[in-house]
Amino acid sequence: MTDSAPIEGGCLCGALRYVAYGAPLYAGLCYCADCRKASGSGFIPFLGFAANVITITGETRRSEVPSLRGGIATRNHCGHCGSLVFGGIAGESDSITIYAGSLDDPSSFQPQVALFVRDRPSWAEVRPGLQEFATMPD
Ligand SMILES: [Zn+2]
Ligand SMILES: [Zn+2]
Repeated sequence: MTDSAPIEGGCLCGALRYVAYGAPLYAGLCYCADCRKASGSGFIPFLGFAANVITITGETRRSEVPSLRGGIATRNHCGHCGSLVFGGIAGESDSITIYAGSLDDPSSFQPQVALFVRDRPSWAEVRPGLQEFATMPD
């Protein structure tokens, strides 16, 4: 826990919300094909929190799809508006991955890494200053 203000956000319609206390465990951009398809965008901006510092409220619709990296990726959408809000299983996963576009204040997101730049489309630029990985860090 830190003294910093909580990080809050949620879906487009407001039915699915979260609040997290403390600094994120990780923050970055992922250019993998799974993230592109799941978001309909060039990459997904993400930040992760330990499960015990984040509270999620509202109804979710969960999607479970085999992951590029193996295993099953669980993504959570608002049950009403369908916005993609977070990854992981609330109440089960050790950490929850928030998709940064859902933040109320997008300036609270400070990406450090770029993942799967190997799979990046030429029109989705990597901003300078990020640590780039062809796939994932070891
Ligand atoms: Zn919603
Ligand atoms: Zn990805």
